[in-house]
Amino acid sequence: MENCIFCKIAAGIIPSSKVFEDDRVFAFRDIHPQAPTHVLIIPKKHYADLAELDLRDQQLMGYLLHVAVKLARGEAIEQKGYRVAINCGPEGGQMVQHIHLHLLGGRELTGELG
Ligand code: AMP
Repeated sequence: MENCIFCKIAAGIIPSSKVFEDDRVFAFRDIHPQAPTHVLIIPKKHYADLAELDLRDQQLMGYLLHVAVKLARGEAIEQKGYRVAINCGPEGGQMVQHIHLHLLGGRELTGELG
């Protein structure tokens, strides 16, 4: 997508602090981290939000979760715990219109989700 900031990050047009990349996925550190580890994991294919997914995308979304778990291991937050979150839509707190998983850890996260 031409005007999507995360598509541009995945394409290397906008610089980012990359932590992982393969043919389907790109992961990079959040520019305004909410925790010592705050990584965003995105599909390279553009989906504006969760509502754009259909059944054919279940493998891709499962793979994004798999990458999140792998990165949590790499960030050494697996033992103490972490959170994976996806915001959707304005009231869900989604600011960037390209599906992304937040991987948060490295401090005690509150029980509050909203
Ligand atoms: P959300 O509110 O779920 O859409 O999350 C969007 C996230 O993207 C926020 O946590 C932002 O800090 C982060 N973000 C926005 N622009 C950039 C960027 N250029 N590089 C890294 N993270 C970004």
